[in-house]
Amino acid sequence: MSAFSNFFGTSKGTENKTDKTLVVKAARCPQNHPCPSVRVCPVGALTQKGMAAPDVNAEKCIKCGKCVNFCPMRALVLE
Ligand code: SF4
Repeated sequence: MSAFSNFFGTSKGTENKTDKTLVVKAARCPQNHPCPSVRVCPVGALTQKGMAAPDVNAEKCIKCGKCVNFCPMRALVLE
């Protein structure tokens, strides 16, 4: 009945991370160091072979974003 009910019913700003996928931007990673983000992942979804950019196990990843915030090169992105 009131136009306000629709207006106030929206939930802007509550972006759902679970709609996203963790992507490794290997070109941004210098690939010369043990990846620090591997250690912050709470579910062990990141692995690294040698000094290469890390691999993501998409089955394990809960898209929490911890590794995204941890990587100083922004090589891990939820998009
Ligand atoms: S988004 Fe979270 S669960 Fe997924 S790889 Fe990064 S730290 Fe692990």
